[in-house]
Amino acid sequence: MNTYYADLHIHSKYSRATSPECDLIPLHHWAQLKGISVCGTGDCTHPDWSKTLKESLILDQDNGLYTLKPNLRGTLTHQLPESCRAPVHFMLTGEISSIYKRDNQTRKVHSLILLPSLEAAATLNTKLAALGNIFSDGRPILKVDPRNLLEMLLEIDPRCALIPAHIWTPWFSMLGSKSGFDSIEECFGDLTPHIFAVETGLSSDAPMNHRVGFLQKITLVSNSDIHSPARLGRNATRFFGTPSYDNIMAAIKGRAPHLFGGTVDLFPEEGKYYHNGHRSCGVSLTPEQSMACDNLCPACGRMLTIGVLHRVMELAEKHPPLISAKRCPVPPYHHIIPLDELLSHQIGNAITSKRVKAAYLHALATAGPELPLLIDAAAKQLDALNEAGAMIKQVRLGKVHKTPGFDGIYGRIYPQDA
Ligand SMILES: [Zn+2]
Ligand SMILES: [Zn+2]
Repeated sequence: MNTYYADLHIHSKYSRATSPECDLIPLHHWAQLKGISVCGTGDCTHPDWSKTLKESLILDQDNGLYTLKPNLRGTLTHQLPESCRAPVHFMLTGEISSIYKRDNQTRKVHSLILLPSLEAAATLNTKLAALGNIFSDGRPILKVDPRNLLEMLLEIDPRCALIPAHIWTPWFSMLGSKSGFDSIEECFGDLTPHIFAVETGLSSDAPMNHRVGFLQKITLVSNSDIHSPARLGRNATRFFGTPSYDNIMAAIKGRAPHLFGGTVDLFPEEGKYYHNGHRSCGVSLTPEQSMACDNLCPACGRMLTIGVLHRVMELAEKHPPLISAKRCPVPPYHHIIPLDELLSHQIGNAITSKRVKAAYLHALATAGPELPLLIDAAAKQLDALNEAGAMIKQVRLGKVHKTPGFDGIYGRIYPQDA
């Protein structure tokens, strides 16, 4: 069975705080290095990016996805190891930041949107332009209730989808502790049946999400939400079969084991909001430690920033699992440490150093693109990579050291010695 990877939530150079490299040709290049077969375009609501997409992409009639026009595909091929060269398809995707009032409270919820065609994206943009400024940011901030955004998408084309983005981040997410909700129903009301997937985000994984009753029956997807193409696929979703718009939708809607291969996540402890804490005070606490001091910072006495683990525990208490673990096993998932981080750990130089970059390309030239290498490669292939291969094996077994992230600071994860 063919295995392939998709990373559907990314940002273009038109989003705030992104690299100018977030353009189609570098994305096409990095997708091949990472082993991403289907890459989101990101930011399809931005008029200038949307124009670039229209000029540079063509519809592949065979699968309902888009590819770079042939004259653009070869631009960086000379820099690409032979072992990584593969077709890359693009899906039209974007993210909307909804800031709006519900029940007199300000809510901030991010939604990932998937669209089947450039025409659907153009219609959406006309409608969104009437609601606010879609030029200001690749991820526009609009005063639109996500329920109404979903309704708008389904009216434009019933093949569109809305996936609540990084659902646990304290600010800007459906279940976020600061300005979100306690369930999907509270956010989407009568349209809840049209929400068939949620995005795990950087600080959570499948087992954590599975602790909450209403998330047991929903598909979990994972995406990188990148602001620079070199980070593509740090989180991704795994699929089986032939890549196509309809197959991806069917996999997400039905979770059939012959189509849906589960999530690929960094270890959730690496996320910026795993533990509770205070960045300025250097305080990082587990939910238990935090509750023992009423969630007040032992250093400054102010309220701690509540992390994802705490929020998951809170909602799992409110919405306990509906079905026993036996009858409803945790969906498939894989934890990874990106290859450049492993090599940087092994070599002792920064990820951006020449040595690490050269070792990275050498490993890919030997054993193929990154995600299939980290997840699917046989032991024999890993042996060809010597020390790096041994580290990948340790990561697959979960044998890693973890320093959890908190209050906006990334955690640190590295493999135990074999
Ligand atoms: Zn977001
Ligand atoms: Zn403090």
